[in-house]
Parts: sequence; structure tokens; C-alpha cells
Amino acid sequence: KLDVKRLRYLSSEEFRVLTAVEMGSRNHEVVPTSLISSIAQLRHGGAHKILAELARERLVGKVQATKYDGYRLTYAGYDYLALRTFAKRGSVYSVGNQIGVGKESDVYIVSDEEGTQRVLKLQRLGRTSFRTVRKNRDYLRNRQGGQWLYLSRLAAMKEYAFMKVLHEHGFPVPKPIDANRHCVVMELIDGHPLYQVHDVEDPGLLYSKLMDLVVRLAQHGLVHGDFNEFNILLTSDDEPILIDFPQMVSTAHENVEMYFNRDVECLRDFFRRRFNYESALFPVFSRDGER
Ligand code: ADP
Repeated sequence: KLDVKRLRYLSSEEFRVLTAVEMGSRNHEVVPTSLISSIAQLRHGGAHKILAELARERLVGKVQATKYDGYRLTYAGYDYLALRTFAKRGSVYSVGNQIGVGKESDVYIVSDEEGTQRVLKLQRLGRTSFRTVRKNRDYLRNRQGGQWLYLSRLAAMKEYAFMKVLHEHGFPVPKPIDANRHCVVMELIDGHPLYQVHDVEDPGLLYSKLMDLVVRLAQHGLVHGDFNEFNILLTSDDEPILIDFPQMVSTAHENVEMYFNRDVECLRDFFRRRFNYESALFPVFSRDGER
């Protein structure tokens, strides 16, 4: 599905037009064909033929709107633009297997020019609801389409920013490598998601590592907000790595106590269910620091 090789087969004119559709999307839900032509400044006038070709490749979608016809960028088109940027910067050279299909993302193994493996995470916000919306009228569908690309970009930028700060402060997260549009490139962690782990040598030790992490985050002014077995990878030496933090909130948030306690409760619950482990010790949020 993600075919980097095809990148090389797109002509520079095709890329100009694809970029023009993206630029036009900033203030048009459906980008008028005439606007695409003028942004792309093709020598022979119209971009119609190239747009038809890009639409056949599903990098853009043709839209018959009420007032005018035009095009919108698809996730596939957005993927190509991001990948091309990563390729230029040398952060991604080739794309390998898909290793994860999150609710709102696709995760691939990629490698750079030296063959070092990394992880590429592409945000896919609205993917599930997009299907149901599809049945609705055209203009509604495409209106939402544009918003989802924008929201996916925001999600990726936020994730990269948090990952960077957390990594710099020594928290166990993948090392962030690059970000562009709706995508983040990060270190590949050699481990398994906690929800797949049924055996650990010392559940008590892992429990306290995770609770320490919750507390240490709060001491840095952050509450994860969705601290569970799906967002944690466990390395072969049982070290937990946080891979996903879309709900992170500041401890200045008015409901911070609720979020903090919910994270703690979620972990306690998991340890009870999975490892039959329960401890009388667990952190409780207090205004002037954690206990
Ligand atoms: P989502 O937010 O859509 O749930 P995740 O970030 O949780 O996506 O990633 C989905 C899956 O991809 C994870 O369960 C994990 O198996 C894999 N994964 C994500 N990031 C990494 C990484 N840095 N290293 C190794 N595997 C990863």
C-alpha cells in the first residue's frame, strides 16, 4: 500500500500539481481546478490531464461540489508528499513491513541510507468515521476529508514535540528522528506491546517502574491520560518504553487529579488481571507534588 518506489515515477510536473492541491487545501475544502492550474503554473496551461492521472493513482480525489468541481488531497497523496520530504532529508530511504495498525495510525518499519531500521508512524485521524461519513453527501464527505488531514498533521506535530521533550528529559520513549506533515519517524524499539506480554520475571518490579514513571511525569508537570498496556512496549530486559501519548495533559489542567488517578487505576487493574498482582502501594495525586 505504501509504495516508495512509485515516488520516483512521478514526474516533476505531477509533483508540482500534487503540491498545488496541498497548498490550495489550506483555504479550500475542495480546491478548484483553476486554482490548482494557477498555483502549479504549468507551461502548457491546464493541469487537467495531470490531475486525471493523479486521481487514477488515488493521490487526489475528484470532487463534484455544488458550486464548482475540484480536487482534494487523499491520505495516499499526503503520504507521498511526506515520504518525499523524508527521502530528501535522508531520514527515510526505504519502507518495509507494516508492524502496526492503530485505531488512528499506521506504523511501518523503514530504514535510512545506512540500513538502520526506524519506525514511521502515519496519523490516520478520522479513518473509522470516514467510512460511515462516506455514505453521506459529497460535500460533507470532502469537507471532513480536509479537516482530517489537518487534524492528523496536528496530532503528528504534537506527538513529535512531546516525544522530543520527554526524550531530552530522560524519559523512556523512542528517540524522535524526524517529523513532516502527518508523520513521525522515530527509533525502532526492540520489544513487545505490554498487552501481548503474559509473563514477566518480576511483576512487582515492573509495577514499580511504571508507577515511578507516572509519578516522574507528574513531577515534570505532565499526566499521560491514557496510560495502558497498548501504549507501553516492554523490551527484552523488561524495561517499559512509552510509545504513544495523544492525551497528555498538563498538571495545571483542572481535572488533573482525575486523569492521574485514572492512569494509576488503569495500571493496577491491568496487573490484577494479567499477573494476578496487587500492591497496597500506589501513588496518589496531591496539589503540592505526588506522594
Ligand atoms: P496508535 O496510536 O494508532 O494506537 P501506536 O503508536 O500505539 O499507534 O502504535 C501501534 C503499534 O505499532 C504498537 O502497538 C507497536 O506494536 C508498534 N510501534 C509503534 N511505535 C513503535 C516503536 N517506536 N518501536 C516499535 N514498535 C512500535
